[in-house]
Amino acid sequence: MNVSEMKQRLLQLETTFKQQEDELTDLDRAIGDGDHGVNMLRGFSAVKENIDDSSMQSLFKSTGMTLMSNIGGASGPLYGFSFVKMSTVVNDDIDSQNLGQLLYTFADAIATRGKVELNEKTMYDVVKRAADNYANGDKLTVEQLQQLANDTKNMVATKGRAAYFKEDSKGYIDPGAQSMVYILSALIGEE
Ligand code: ADP
Ligand code: MG
Repeated sequence: MNVSEMKQRLLQLETTFKQQEDELTDLDRAIGDGDHGVNMLRGFSAVKENIDDSSMQSLFKSTGMTLMSNIGGASGPLYGFSFVKMSTVVNDDIDSQNLGQLLYTFADAIATRGKVELNEKTMYDVVKRAADNYANGDKLTVEQLQQLANDTKNMVATKGRAAYFKEDSKGYIDPGAQSMVYILSALIGEE
C-alpha cells in the first residue's frame, strides 16, 4: 500500500466514525461516560486539516499528533501515541511483512502507554490478538476483527472508566475494542 492509498484510508475513517458515532456512544454509555463516539469523530475529522503526506512516516506521525491533541479522553493519547510509534517503523510501501511490524508496534504502544494486558476488556484485546493472528499467517478480515471485539463482551473491565462497573461491565462490547476494529480495518485495507 502506498502513501496516497493509505492517506485515503485514513481520511475515510472520518466517514466511518460519522456512521458509527451512535454505536460507539451507546457502548460507552453502557460502561463509561458516553463520549467515545464523539471523541473518535472529533479526532478523525481533524486529520484532514493536519495530514502531512510528504512520506508514509509523516503521514503516520501527523495523524498521531492530530489524534493526541483532538480526541481527548483515555483513547486520544493511546491512539495518538500508537500512530507516532508506528511512524518509526512504517515503510513507504507497506508490504505484508511491514504490516506485521505495524500491528506489533501498535499493540506494544497500547500496552506500554495503557499499562494493559490481555483480557482487561480494552482495545488492546483486539490489536494484540490481531497482531498475533497475522504473525501466525492468518489473513485478517473485518469479520475476524469484529469477532475479537465481540469477545470482550464476556470480560470484566479492569482498566479505564469501565473498571468502575466491575462485574456489571460484562455483557457489553468495550467501546475502544470496537473503534479498534475500524482503525485496523483501514490499516489492513479491508472495508
Ligand atoms: P474515556 O474513558 O476517558 O472516556 P474514551 O471513552 O474515548 O475515553 O475511551 C475509552 C476506551 O479507551 C475504552 O473502551 C478502552 O478500550 C480504552 N482504554 C481506557 N483505558 C485504557 C488502558 N489503560 N489501556 C488500554 N485501553 C484503555
Ligand atoms: Mg468515554
